[in-house]
Amino acid sequence: MSVTDLAEGLFLDADGASALRGGRCVSCGHTAFPAPATCLDCGCDTMQIALGRRAELICATTVRMATANFDAGHVVGYVRVEAGVRVFAPLAHELADAPPGTLLTVDVGPLWTEGGDDIRAYRFIPAKAATDA
Ligand SMILES: [Zn+2]
Repeated sequence: MSVTDLAEGLFLDADGASALRGGRCVSCGHTAFPAPATCLDCGCDTMQIALGRRAELICATTVRMATANFDAGHVVGYVRVEAGVRVFAPLAHELADAPPGTLLTVDVGPLWTEGGDDIRAYRFIPAKAATDA
């Protein structure tokens, strides 16, 4: 079984860890994820950066319908990563009732299987559960 990324260019791998790959404007500093080719604010070029692995929960909700890759009852929400970027992502189940401000860490790894391949994607988990935070 091989591992395929959810989308090309989502991750930066360095020092044995994977991070979300953001784009920072070379002119105004606006940072976004996924990394845009040009700044969403001013249209200038962006450079790729590794977004911080730590994040803070903004809000979470439980999704009652199953989706292609997640069972009914999965949790999603918005988080703010260290670079200040808001990211919408799957969340660990135990975050369903977590308050805003809960400290998180990104978890990059296989989240589901498609056509026999593990799909490498991202989710956020409680910071205390992280093995590398
Ligand atoms: Zn800009």
